[in-house]
Amino acid sequence: MSESFNEKFDLLVIGGGITGCGVARDAAMRGLSVALVERDDFASGTSGRSSRLVHGGIRYLEHAQFHLVRESIRERETLLRIAPHLVQPLAFTWPIYRGARVGRLKLDAGLFLYQVLALGKAKRYSSLDAAKTLEREPALGNTGLTGGAVYYDARTDDARLTIANALAAEQNGAVVASHTRVTDVIREAGQAAGAIVTAQLTGERREIRARAIVSAVGVWPDSFGSAGASRQGRGSKGVHIAVPRERVGNRDAITIISAVDGRVMFCLPAGSQTIIGTTDTWTDESPETVHASNSDVDYLLRSANAYFPRARLTFDDVVSAWAGIRPLATGGSNPTAVSREHSIVTDGSGIIHVTGGKLTTYRSMAAEIVDRAQESLGQKVRSAATDEVELPGGDRDAVIAEFQRTDPALSQSLVEGPTYTAAHLVYGITIEKAQTLSDLLIRRTHLAFETRDHGRSVAARAAEIVAPLLGWDEKTKSARVQQYQEDVGRIFAVSAD
Ligand SMILES: Cc1cc2nc3c(=O)[nH]c(=O)nc-3n(C[C@H](O)[C@H](O)[C@H](O)COP(=O)(O)OP(=O)(O)OC[C@H]3O[C@@H](n4cnc5c(N)ncnc54)[C@H](O)[C@@H]3O)c2cc1C
Repeated sequence: MSESFNEKFDLLVIGGGITGCGVARDAAMRGLSVALVERDDFASGTSGRSSRLVHGGIRYLEHAQFHLVRESIRERETLLRIAPHLVQPLAFTWPIYRGARVGRLKLDAGLFLYQVLALGKAKRYSSLDAAKTLEREPALGNTGLTGGAVYYDARTDDARLTIANALAAEQNGAVVASHTRVTDVIREAGQAAGAIVTAQLTGERREIRARAIVSAVGVWPDSFGSAGASRQGRGSKGVHIAVPRERVGNRDAITIISAVDGRVMFCLPAGSQTIIGTTDTWTDESPETVHASNSDVDYLLRSANAYFPRARLTFDDVVSAWAGIRPLATGGSNPTAVSREHSIVTDGSGIIHVTGGKLTTYRSMAAEIVDRAQESLGQKVRSAATDEVELPGGDRDAVIAEFQRTDPALSQSLVEGPTYTAAHLVYGITIEKAQTLSDLLIRRTHLAFETRDHGRSVAARAAEIVAPLLGWDEKTKSARVQQYQEDVGRIFAVSAD
């Protein structure tokens, strides 16, 4: 484990999802000495299981969450600016059918408000008649189609956005460690003074001392036993499925209202696939084992089939299905109606806990959390230019091309279809802090989401490629391959209900 953990830090951040990584970047950019620890990989929790949208959240308008929509739109515009390699504009077509819950008037009013809340910064939506709607998205069913609209949000790579923040924190002096779990909090006179951590891949234990601690563990119950505010919110499970895009036929993103229960959902383009999601149901499942069930998949297929009648999607079309748990700061009977705003609570021992939020708003949320940390440190609160400095990784394609030029063997594709090569793995290890096959095949690439066997058949070859870089001997190689099989078996399982 890094000797750099020897110093006493201003701030220890527990949890390397988007929240923790965003906090670490912001705090390091303010000049604080920062340690960030993540029990598994960055974005291995909810932050790697999202809809991969950086969006204003048009559906929140139905619940009058204007503040959240405005903040989300502002953050969307900021991320489009500071991370053009990770966040790109995406056009959404919203078709309207006769008798729809959201009809022409309501949709136009909603999109007009969405535009107003963007304060003139976003690309303008347009209303479409039925013919124009079908021209944009010919695969949509035409029976009862009365028109639609096209509006703009953005897509991202959720895992790599998270990792980019961890890397930015490190570039600004933070000590950043994945596969390092907090098992206990060190307390002195009732106040948190640091944490005991265990390196998950070696078993090594050590102390990290810090003057302030932020717990950004999302939906994980506080396994490190903090006093006072433990897990503050309930979780809502969200399932996505990926199916071949040629089967659905969508060109861009499509917003649909599920014919099953009237919820707003998305069919999203993702290379050669369409991602359909999401569900939204209260759950007590563990975030470590949460996965899709047959009824989740059936719900998503039925919802999509109502819009793409020619597709007649069945379970056989599903390439992968996965689930995440939304950390929601408040309760309620209907998780869809619960606000995605966040809460920040300091417990009796001084630990600052954060719950809720969205991927989209992580940067502004992080600034608020670091303000709180600086107050608890007795420092003058001063913001960092996190909305101006570009996130790292914009040169990824050029670096990968250079790896391939230097060593042509690295140009070999890992599998047919998705365009990942051995060089992507080398990049993941040398630049993006990957340490295991799951880090590489699930989060640095999305190969596990994009192949029917979830990358099982390529795992041994991937291990061969990265073994020299990670110092793996034969025994470690086979242990890592075995671990990978178990990880994807857990994450991509679809259980009978
Ligand atoms: C299905 C779904 C779709 C979504 N879609 C979107 C979307 O399109 N756009 C959007 O803006 N938002 C979306 N969200 C919301 C967004 O994904 C979450 O709000 C966000 O990812 C939460 O990040 P987090 O860092 O708080 O939690 P997490 O990502 O879960 O991070 C918490 C981390 O803490 C670590 N941890 C736990 N215990 C310890 C410990 N003892 N020691 C060290 N580390 C520990 C965990 O391993 C985990 O990595 C979606 C959520 C879901 C579930």
